[in-house]
Amino acid sequence: MRVELGAHPKDRPSSTFRTSPRPLSVLAKPSGAICNLDCDYCFFLSKEQLYPDGRFRMAEEVLEAYLTQLLELHPGPEVTISWQGGEPTLLGVDFYRRAIALAKTLVRPGVRLQHTIQTNATLLDDRWAALFAEEQFLVGISIDGPRDLHDRYRHDKAGRPTYDKVRAGLELLIAHGVDVNALVTVNAANEAHPLEVYRHLRDDLGLEYLQLIPIVERANATGFQEGTEVTERSVSPSGWGRFLTTIFDEWRRHDVGSVFVSMFDAALAPKLGLPATMCIFAETCGDALALEHNGDLYSCDHFVEPGYLLGNITEQHLGELAASPAQQRFGAAKAEGLVAQCRRCPALASCRGECPKNRFTTTADGEFGLNYLCEGYLNFFTHAEPVLELMATQLRRGGFADEVMDLLNGADPAAPCPCGSGNPAGRCHR
Ligand code: SF4
Ligand code: SF4
Repeated sequence: MRVELGAHPKDRPSSTFRTSPRPLSVLAKPSGAICNLDCDYCFFLSKEQLYPDGRFRMAEEVLEAYLTQLLELHPGPEVTISWQGGEPTLLGVDFYRRAIALAKTLVRPGVRLQHTIQTNATLLDDRWAALFAEEQFLVGISIDGPRDLHDRYRHDKAGRPTYDKVRAGLELLIAHGVDVNALVTVNAANEAHPLEVYRHLRDDLGLEYLQLIPIVERANATGFQEGTEVTERSVSPSGWGRFLTTIFDEWRRHDVGSVFVSMFDAALAPKLGLPATMCIFAETCGDALALEHNGDLYSCDHFVEPGYLLGNITEQHLGELAASPAQQRFGAAKAEGLVAQCRRCPALASCRGECPKNRFTTTADGEFGLNYLCEGYLNFFTHAEPVLELMATQLRRGGFADEVMDLLNGADPAAPCPCGSGNPAGRCHR
């Protein structure tokens, strides 16, 4: 059996986080923060207040400026155009058909366009499925597990559950042969049910590409990244660690090479000497920007706040804004702001202190700025370390031997390596 990091076609930005090493990615929000649902934990709905007079529909001149500048910045061989929201399907199929047609007129010969979209899937019909299939979209679907867990926080504006609609949309896309990537938020309701969630997605829905996103929601009235309290919906640090380690064990026993979990690919990348495959584990920030419906460009999808507004692409080129001193400062702050506990942490090369938006707790010795999820990440990276080392060793050799697959399928990675060296399997580099 052969397993290659990043070999699967979902290694593209399709959600909050990048899942592929890229020089610059932009999440465009053509409908702004507007959504047909009212999920309890959504961090983006409050952003509507930033644009009190907004029409929340990307105008043609903004669309043209965006696609022109994005395509100028990426010479190829492939350019990813990522749509997100709010709920981007609210703009209707025809908006995206126009955008795609425009991109095709602007793109350099020989450059491939890759479209991604993140959707709640509740508005999908045959027209959408046909568009996604024709244009080979990678579609991220937000789903939090089986019906009872999904419906705990994900409901429409009338408070009605959404699971059945999401599932119908998902099955429609699968029937049309569309590539689908599940985005699962891990929260207070599902954190104690990792296997239930994972097996539902894998076995009941037949999904092979999963992204796990922790809900860390600050308890404040602004919706911005401020304050030190979290809402009761947020995942707990220990629950996040247990969720990851439990699914990791299930995955390494049964699904290596057949199910792709972006978090596990990301944890493997530094073992192979590869660049971070998710921005949260990169040394610096700054190359994953967010574009609002009116052309306003922000430092990051998680910092769509007045203090992180870089400018408007109808007035200044996207490339200039991305290279601006303000964005460079934003990017460098991630590494510069590491607390001493992170700097001496054995998991630093994998974790990098994770996302700055979650750094609002205090270390045991009183230093402010430790990541809220630290306990969970330390648990996960420590737990996964021997298995990831084993996998990295095998990948460097060009593939997984059968005996290594047997080992992954349940044996203790601290047991002797099957190569006969006498080294522990998880640490053998022969
Ligand atoms: S702040 Fe940095 S790590 Fe967090 S989502 Fe944005 S780019 Fe990624
Ligand atoms: S596990 Fe905790 S201490 Fe270690 S780098 Fe991550 S956040 Fe910092």
